[in-house]
Amino acid sequence: MKVLEPGKIVCVGRNYAAHARELGNEVPQRPMLFFKPISSVIGPGDAIILPRVSSQVEYEAEIGVVIGTRAKRVSAAHALEHVRGFVCANDVTCRDLQKPDGQWGRAKGFDTFCPLGPEVVSGLDCTTLEIIGRVNGEVRQRAPVSDMIFSIPVLIEYISAIMTLEPGDVILTGTPEGVGRLHAGDVVEVEIPGVGTLSNPVREDDA
Ligand code: ZN
Repeated sequence: MKVLEPGKIVCVGRNYAAHARELGNEVPQRPMLFFKPISSVIGPGDAIILPRVSSQVEYEAEIGVVIGTRAKRVSAAHALEHVRGFVCANDVTCRDLQKPDGQWGRAKGFDTFCPLGPEVVSGLDCTTLEIIGRVNGEVRQRAPVSDMIFSIPVLIEYISAIMTLEPGDVILTGTPEGVGRLHAGDVVEVEIPGVGTLSNPVREDDA
């Protein structure tokens, strides 16, 4: 069951240098933004459905930032005053559709492709967070937030200069290296110590 109903989901691509390199990409000079549709949101325990058009669906464990108060052109120095808390996020992606499409709306926009949860936790020091991704209990991704190219306050400054961030909006802050494929029957987990663990089973599309 969903624990969040954001008005928008703003995502940052290639925000960890090692992940940019593992996919053969340059490290970006400025934050690379894209969106996931609201209809892609699911909650803890809900199934990620593998679309039939893709043969390479991958997990991306990410730190989600949940906005608490409206943020329009805020500076990095004041950015955290607008944050309600942090949540575990999985930016599920059809890797085989992402490159040929150019735009990422299809590869990252399928229903069930944005697990968020298990809850929003506030009062954490955003400079010491860590992100962990596991498949079937095995750690595949693990990185401190200090590995981000653009920090959370810098991202909020950058994004809020483009679009007003409203309470409930979520920013997905990018994934570290170690992304990989999901198969039907897998259980994928995203953990942020201090926030909790978001767990989702993976299923074929049998509709
Ligand atoms: Zn991502």
